Amino acid sequence: MRVAIMGAGLSGLACAITLEQHGIEPVIYEKRSRIGDRFVNGEVLLSMFTRPVNDSIAYLSEQFGIFLQPAAGISKMTIYSKHKKAVLKGQLGFTNVRGREKNSFEAQLGRQVKSKIHYHSEKTYEELLAEYTHVVLATGDSDYAKKTRNFREDLTVSIKGATVEGSFDPYEVMTWLDYEIAPFGYGYLIPFSEKEANLVIAFPDLSEIEIDIEHSWDRLYQKAQAELQQGLSVTDRFQITGYPMGLCHTGRVGNTFYVGNCFGAMMPFMGFGQHASLMTGIYAAHDLCGLGHYEELTKPIRQSYENSIILRRAMERLSNETLDTIIQHLDSSWGEKLITNPKLDPLKMASYLLRPYIKLTQ
Ligand SMILES: Cc1cc2nc3c(=O)[nH]c(=O)nc-3n(C[C@H](O)[C@H](O)[C@H](O)COP(=O)(O)OP(=O)(O)OC[C@H]3O[C@@H](n4cnc5c(N)ncnc54)[C@H](O)[C@@H]3O)c2cc1C
Repeated sequence: MRVAIMGAGLSGLACAITLEQHGIEPVIYEKRSRIGDRFVNGEVLLSMFTRPVNDSIAYLSEQFGIFLQPAAGISKMTIYSKHKKAVLKGQLGFTNVRGREKNSFEAQLGRQVKSKIHYHSEKTYEELLAEYTHVVLATGDSDYAKKTRNFREDLTVSIKGATVEGSFDPYEVMTWLDYEIAPFGYGYLIPFSEKEANLVIAFPDLSEIEIDIEHSWDRLYQKAQAELQQGLSVTDRFQITGYPMGLCHTGRVGNTFYVGNCFGAMMPFMGFGQHASLMTGIYAAHDLCGLGHYEELTKPIRQSYENSIILRRAMERLSNETLDTIIQHLDSSWGEKLITNPKLDPLKMASYLLRPYIKLTQ
């Protein structure tokens, strides 16, 4: 068996580590000059969105021998709507760094891989398919899945973010749900140290709304400075437009596996995709090693995507007034229990309750 992995990101590297654990040495093709050679950003692994897995980091090491060091554990999350705020406390998950940093998740995974990595790769999927018995598509986008008509795109998203310098509590993340700033989307601040954080705005591209992303980000920047009562200096910026979210129809087509964002690991509700990306990489390797069937193993990931799209569509029907009411209710011991109780799956519960009211166009 000769396996090629296209893309040395989260899913591709998790796949490679798992294959190696079972005696298969894949060959990895990465288009960039090294692992993680892109903008630095802070991301989160939130327990409430990975349930029944409550602690992604422990799960990956104990069950799959994949070791990741987060930037910090999240013990506080403040969610702001236009006029209200909810403060949630407990073991909520982890923050981590991505991109061009020594301890970014992809850099940490890269240090656990022994297989050959070809950088600056210009190999196409078709060329790899001709050379290898199996190809794992892990390019972090849906391009090939779309090209082969194996992708259902549900929406695209625009994202603008910056690294800001200031003084932060590394154990606290902040979120803004204010549609005057980010229509039907959200803003967030994720610290990746005591001195640096990512301030990001993200919203769906809806044809009926024209949004000046520059202006939206500036408004979030003003809000964040006011809440934190300090000036923040901007050191690095990034912007992504038309970032697709969707799901492939079939995770395995012949001897090709679609993993990570190629599979459709991004949850359309709030854009979380790290846990599912790592898991799809591991599951593709398990199928290749005869330890299970990819389609079967990925069923829960598919289901959580479908639950998440219900929440996304529900979010697109809310107003700032309803958001104020929701946030006010969340700011209670009931709200905290819903988010922190490891036995509850808020995504599943909310989608179950909302499903009858949300008509999905596919
Ligand atoms: C701004 C932003 C913030 C996010 N925040 C969060 C968050 O807080 N929590 C969360 O869970 N998720 C978050 N996500 C989603 C998460 O980052 C992705 O779901 C995850 O990184 C996808 O992993 P992947 O393996 O599919 O792709 P990646 O990790 O992006 O890896 C893809 C790799 O493939 C390489 N590649 C691309 N094309 C080719 C090619 N033709 N040939 C060879 N190599 C190629 C790339 O260079 C890259 O190294 C965020 C995403 C963005 C954009």
